[in-house]
Amino acid sequence: MADIIQLLPDHVANQIAAGEVVQRPASVVKELLENAIDAQATSIKLLIKEAGKTLVQVIDNGSGMSATDARLSFERHATSKIRSADDLFQLHTKGFRGEALASIAAIAHVELKTKQEDDEVGTNLIIEGSEIVSQEIVVTPKGTSIAVKNLFFNIPARRNFLKSNQVELRHIIDEFHRVTLAHPGIQFMMYHNGNELFNLPESNYRQRIVNIFGNKTNEKLVPVNEDTEVLKISGFVGKPEYAKKTRGEQFFFVNDRFIKNAYLNHAINSAFDGLLKDGTHASYFLNLTVDPQTIDINIHPTKTEIKFDDEHTLYAILRASVKHSLGQFNIAPVLDFDRDAQLDTPYNYKDKGVSTPQIEVDRDFNPFQEQNNFKEQRSSKQTTAFKKQTPSSWDSLYVGLESKGTQSQQEFMSVQFETEEKTASIFNDDKAVENSKSTYQLHNKYIVSTIKSGMLVLDQHRSHQRVLYEDFLQHITVKESVSQQLLFPIELHFSTQEIDIINQVKEDLEHTGFVFSNVTKERVEISGVPVSVPASEVSVVLEQLISDIENEVPDSHFSSADLLAKSMAKSLAVKTGQTLTVPEQEHLVNSLFGCKEPNMSPFNKTTFITLSVDELDKKFV
Ligand code: ADP
Ligand code: MG
Repeated sequence: MADIIQLLPDHVANQIAAGEVVQRPASVVKELLENAIDAQATSIKLLIKEAGKTLVQVIDNGSGMSATDARLSFERHATSKIRSADDLFQLHTKGFRGEALASIAAIAHVELKTKQEDDEVGTNLIIEGSEIVSQEIVVTPKGTSIAVKNLFFNIPARRNFLKSNQVELRHIIDEFHRVTLAHPGIQFMMYHNGNELFNLPESNYRQRIVNIFGNKTNEKLVPVNEDTEVLKISGFVGKPEYAKKTRGEQFFFVNDRFIKNAYLNHAINSAFDGLLKDGTHASYFLNLTVDPQTIDINIHPTKTEIKFDDEHTLYAILRASVKHSLGQFNIAPVLDFDRDAQLDTPYNYKDKGVSTPQIEVDRDFNPFQEQNNFKEQRSSKQTTAFKKQTPSSWDSLYVGLESKGTQSQQEFMSVQFETEEKTASIFNDDKAVENSKSTYQLHNKYIVSTIKSGMLVLDQHRSHQRVLYEDFLQHITVKESVSQQLLFPIELHFSTQEIDIINQVKEDLEHTGFVFSNVTKERVEISGVPVSVPASEVSVVLEQLISDIENEVPDSHFSSADLLAKSMAKSLAVKTGQTLTVPEQEHLVNSLFGCKEPNMSPFNKTTFITLSVDELDKKFV
């Protein structure tokens, strides 16, 4: 038998290995930025075209390379950063595998220009699919510029696998955030298709965070600092009342390297225990410094995972210092005992500001009149105050009726009236009135209603989602809106990317009834809202929307109108656990059956089931 094993040609081996290092344009961004940092650059520029599909270029003012090094840098396992295996445990650089440039050159068109400080001229190198096409002398400033064009030009399957520009750009920006947050002492600029997205001057850590995420971030940050023998922590956590629905702003850096670690993330969450509203996530920007001997970064090629020798100790220290900071800045109650939870300000009240206390004088009050008078007044005040506290925002239920005009609402009211009148005239005790209810709420989750053939059970949350969804969709597609002017415009602060997202769907939002009176780089002012959106819910609705769009993986049948309607329906639908009055229950039932597709929620979940008398009979055999 002939021998059949062959060594793969280099360029094939390189292509295979490249798949591990370069998954998408953002991976190239990460590798190039890290190389520039390792080269001691103090100013780094990132240029992107078409979300990196046509160009990723990084220009730095770092050390540069000699002509020989320039050529060598594209060889696999060529690195200036480690010499022996021992060095792996003393790493002070980002790179060490010597794989990135070789991998990138295997699957793209690369042009390198580089010059060291003391050299007169620099080197210009062009490589396509691992082949050196040309090497020339060039006049260029000190430092290195690497342009990566037409990524995956020779692997069509991978190129086709790339997501939309919107999604790929988001990955690039995520990577940019991670690198720039880890190095506030370096100036960074980023351009996309010629537009400046970020211009981050050299600064301290707090300023860097603010420059990236917007001015408003400043007041949200609580410093965390701790210095122990095993671990040094510095950075910030976000105040609990600013916690967001998205997990976006969570950053751990270990020795200046961005990492993901579910265990340490848990440590932070437990420090925030009891301080966050349901469904929101704390934000944090934390730098951990540990002895490089105690970690192993060499476990994954993309290097966002890391192994610690003693995770349990890190967990405990991290949790304690975050807790301490929250307590010190009066965010968490320091004394947990003898605290009356009833006296705590609810989170949504905290940013409402303080209004001057008003003295109300009842000029008609006469102490010598009937004594009851005073008592009555007091008790009536108490009830209104109490009413305000119940969180149900009931106008939202009436959404289904809007398109049909107020007439049907009146009809609905009058039907209500009739039944009550009837019952009042026929029966005279409360029990009888109870019996006349045509709907019943079960466990604050289901609405049970009788129908001719038997009974109907609705899931209140899913049903209401369906009603709201169709209503929003109708408004967006018909491009007619009913909006409610606000007496005081609502001002909301977002990061630049979040504003970008809002801008993308602004027109559709306007069709639902939102009126944007002013949108700047990090702020939106809203002077009108859809009738079905209570002003207090606006920020929740928009945050949910941003989070949904961020997490959406747009494919061929991506429709922003649909996504928007779904997202708003999700935020505004009555929740499981919410008590509904009988008219509210009835209205929901009626609205659901006025829908085009009442059977399914917008997320394809069953909205209701029926149980016929026959089926019931069978159970009673
Ligand atoms: P690694 O970073 O793991 O060493 P790379 O393939 O990313 O591997 O880079 C190979 C080598 O090329 C680096 O070790 C470094 O010496 C050199 N190099 C890469 N980028 C730059 C740059 N921007 N400036 C100076 N030298 C660079
Ligand atoms: Mg590198």
